[in-house]
Amino acid sequence: MTRFIIITGGVLSGLGKGIVTSSLGKLLKSRGFSVTAIKMDPYLNCDAGTMNPFEHGEVFVLRDGAEVDLDFGNYERFMDLDLCGEDNITTGKVYRSVIEKERSGEYLGKTVQIIPHVTDEIIRRIWKVANDAGTDIVLIELGGTVGDMESAPFLEASRQLRMELGDDIKKCFFIHTTLVPTLNVVGEQKTKPTQHSVQELRAIGIEPNVIVGRSDRYLESSTKKKISLFCDVPVEAVVSSPDASNIYRVPLILEDEGLADYVMKKMDMDPLYQERKSDAPGLETWKQFLERFENPESEITIALVGKYCDLKDAYTSHEEALNHCRAFTRTLIKMKYIESEDLETEENILKLLGDVDGILIPGGFGVRGINGKINAVHYARTNNIPMLSICLGFQVSVIEFARNVLGYQDANSSEFDDRTEHPVIDLMAMQRGIDMMGGTMRLGAEKVMLEKGSKAYGIYGTEEIEERHRHRYEVNPDYKDEFEERGFMFSGKTLNKKRMEIFEIPEHPFFMGCQFHPEFISRPTKPAPLFLAFVNAIRERKGLT
Ligand code: GLN
Repeated sequence: MTRFIIITGGVLSGLGKGIVTSSLGKLLKSRGFSVTAIKMDPYLNCDAGTMNPFEHGEVFVLRDGAEVDLDFGNYERFMDLDLCGEDNITTGKVYRSVIEKERSGEYLGKTVQIIPHVTDEIIRRIWKVANDAGTDIVLIELGGTVGDMESAPFLEASRQLRMELGDDIKKCFFIHTTLVPTLNVVGEQKTKPTQHSVQELRAIGIEPNVIVGRSDRYLESSTKKKISLFCDVPVEAVVSSPDASNIYRVPLILEDEGLADYVMKKMDMDPLYQERKSDAPGLETWKQFLERFENPESEITIALVGKYCDLKDAYTSHEEALNHCRAFTRTLIKMKYIESEDLETEENILKLLGDVDGILIPGGFGVRGINGKINAVHYARTNNIPMLSICLGFQVSVIEFARNVLGYQDANSSEFDDRTEHPVIDLMAMQRGIDMMGGTMRLGAEKVMLEKGSKAYGIYGTEEIEERHRHRYEVNPDYKDEFEERGFMFSGKTLNKKRMEIFEIPEHPFFMGCQFHPEFISRPTKPAPLFLAFVNAIRERKGLT
């Protein structure tokens, strides 16, 4: 039997509902249950791939190449899962299927409507995931806020799903996450916004079984009682989720609040728990990770040279990958976010990069800020500063070397200058002729072969690895030999050796780049190897090892 737990949000978006969902999944997994997660996104985009990071934070890439929003990163990191594109149900995908079915005549004779056709399509997709995954529990997070026009079909589908399951709390459970603000003047916790959003949910026909109150501090017992009374849930079903010093603490906070125990009790999961508990991983490893994370013994500073620095969410997975290294190496990693456009003068380069221990250059699109990134690479290469560059960062590092070492002043990527005589970065052949933007890049996990004896090989400790990709341009293989003759080694390539995946300069303390995105597969207790090697190189250079 599959059990569904549906997580909705009220009052405000950005409350951290994704972290609550991920944390609950972590707690259930720690008890030995198998879990998968679905995110329903009410936007009309088919996926997050075409969205500017300023809109919605970073675009996360799943193993199968699906482009999804950053909540999936948290699901994968907290629950240690590899999810797939079908786990993301967006309005765009749902409408597209319904319209295609209408055109093919599947609804012949019928007026096609939101209820039942759109809602049926949502429910069909939920069951598809549940059946394919075959897990004990399916967590379903509904993006957005109750009351939004866009979420209405998803809430209606959720209500119908519960009915379809016999209106049985054991099979379908609702958790509502809301904001409980504190009025600073009187320091009083206000429950009215929660009451209103629960009323809104009830008007749709959904009664929440648990209310998670997001607040700057723990809910007082009088606040819990009030929410219980006005929202018609037992007091033990009102759970505090106060602001935490770091997101990795949240599972432990919710464990202390009794969330998972309450869910288990109400969903009658004890018999299943008796079967599962001998293999239950528990929370010990997580606690150890947190202990290491929270008690660093040394400190380094890493500059992230990007173009969406005003919104930190744009680089979430980079930051998390470094957080995993922080715990692993007990090193506090101070991040210095630098807008690449600010690195266009010599004076600024020294001012902004002069005091950093390492430089991270993430991926990106478009020409804005490219010169600043090239300058950052040049500074790292010529001053022996450890540098890790990713995707666009990798491409920019190749351009820098071509310009300053190979002497091709006009070397460029054809993404930025399609007339250059030296397109050291060029459109992949498979990308020619593609003019649809959505989901058409080289996406998802692919194998990379490492050169024996290289730094990369030493870091991964194996010849064949798998990493996730998201790009249209690549190193022009015509230039490969020239680079290698000058000491810029391509130590990772695709199976057919045609596509450059990793470079390194062996003489440099750490000067590496990768065409793929190692940040997407970093997990709290398994930091991404390239990130870890980067941090270790910085530590070594600072004499910290
Ligand atoms: N814009 C580059 C490309 O399309 C890099 C992409 C990225 O950094 N994700 O190849």
